[in-house]
Amino acid sequence: MIPYGRQWLDDDDRAAVLAVLESDWLTQGPAVPRFEQTVAGYCGASQGVAVCNGTAALHLACLALDVGPGDLVWTSPLTFVASANCARYCGAEVDFVDIDAATLNLSPERLADKLVVARRESRLPKAVIPVHFAGRCCDMDAIGALSREFGFRVVEDASHALGARDLDAMVGACRQSDLVVTSFHPVKQITTGEGGMLLAQDAALAERLARLRSHGITRDPAAMSGPSEGPWYYQQVELGFNYRMTDIQAALGTSQMAKLPRFVGRRRELAQRYRAALADLPVTLPSANGDDASAWHLFVVRVDERSRRRIFEALRAAGIGVNVHYIPVHLQPDYARLGFKPGQFPAAEHYYREAITLPLYPALSDAEQDRVVAELTQAIAA
Ligand SMILES: *Cc1c(COP(=O)(O)O)cnc(C)c1O
Repeated sequence: MIPYGRQWLDDDDRAAVLAVLESDWLTQGPAVPRFEQTVAGYCGASQGVAVCNGTAALHLACLALDVGPGDLVWTSPLTFVASANCARYCGAEVDFVDIDAATLNLSPERLADKLVVARRESRLPKAVIPVHFAGRCCDMDAIGALSREFGFRVVEDASHALGARDLDAMVGACRQSDLVVTSFHPVKQITTGEGGMLLAQDAALAERLARLRSHGITRDPAAMSGPSEGPWYYQQVELGFNYRMTDIQAALGTSQMAKLPRFVGRRRELAQRYRAALADLPVTLPSANGDDASAWHLFVVRVDERSRRRIFEALRAAGIGVNVHYIPVHLQPDYARLGFKPGQFPAAEHYYREAITLPLYPALSDAEQDRVVAELTQAIAA
């Protein structure tokens, strides 16, 4: 089976992990700040806070922006459930903003319309979580301008977009946002097994995130109520979690970061090869605008919705590990229970009925990609 995504690991990655196994630290130790500085430095953020997975990063982002009961958080319906669930973990309510049919990212026009209505009803969101779908950066200038006009915080879900560009900056530089969150799951641009990171420019915000990552405990006398009782002393000053990353993971991540430009370069090359090879097929290709800035997490083609299932099953039977990203979050039963209904976000729902994710990862060879193209061609013609 050619999977839709998978990791790339070299001998230097294995050596980096082995070196940690032979060191004094297994849990969070010196490899974690090294990894944080590597990722933050690459992306142009001054702060990085590594955590145990991307979902934990999203949860901490909401907590650190004081999202809580009574608050609203808006995100895209075309995303992994974690982008929405994070607000619910904090007791906040989630709502969605439909996608732009071309970019597949949260539509700034729909966002503006919804904000006007929300202001009238005094139901403005506390935070908006745009998702850089498939690795293509959202229109952050438009979203940033709206955040200043309507007074909400912005957390970029860049789980698909490590190594992507946002105009002249890298995604992760928080150009128009408070925080950027990314994931190091094995199908993403680099992997730590499980892992995630928050990127910020605000040192105080990063300090709060680091404290929330480890139970809300501080050893900094300046952050304590009352005097320190001795060198052993610590205080839990708010309710946090154990969301720490291990040194084993962080060492793997730092080693992987050295390969990130090559990984993203190969993803872009494979995306261009798909474009050329699929140009004459009756499929809708991803909109081309911004191809060389995208980190190309996913390559999604759209087919006639009446034959999507048949084509999908034919490809799976032929050993091509196609997938569908994503079932719109509001259609999940756990969201239907909250009152969401089919038809509320028509652009995301229409996209979903037609979408097939083709294999795309740096280790995919030209020959394997040619086989994907041949099988897709055959399945469509059948
Ligand atoms: C992968 C992903 C996450 C976080 O995933 P983890 O598996 O928790 O690291 C969040 N949002 C999106 C859009 C993702 O693709």
